[in-house]
Amino acid sequence: MITINLTEIVYQFNEFIGIGIGFQMMICSFTLLGFLVQLLIAYWMYKDAKKRGEEEVLWLIVGLIAGIIGLILWLLVRPEMYEVRKKYRFQHPAPGKPCPDCDREMRWIEEYDRWYCGRCKEYK
Ligand SMILES: [Zn+2]
Repeated sequence: MITINLTEIVYQFNEFIGIGIGFQMMICSFTLLGFLVQLLIAYWMYKDAKKRGEEEVLWLIVGLIAGIIGLILWLLVRPEMYEVRKKYRFQHPAPGKPCPDCDREMRWIEEYDRWYCGRCKEYK
């Protein structure tokens, strides 16, 4: 009677260990997946920050450490693309483009986001 019980206990124990290992592997793959997602987030933040003229290395580190929280933070603080373009234009004023009709240099009108030819008196 005792022998049977022992076998039963050993069987139960093996099953328990089996579940334990399976569970551990599951957690491990989840961790791995989470790590990959974190890497992707960090990489995307790096590219996005660079595109928007922000500190890309800083945001790469934030993404690697904070993952999804870092991503949310970045989405909250990142400048909008139109702001970036505006800033860029301010820092690097584009030379006047020649008018396609009269070849005179046109002016960039920030307000309308278009070129204006003083001779033709119209937006191009
Ligand atoms: Zn013109």
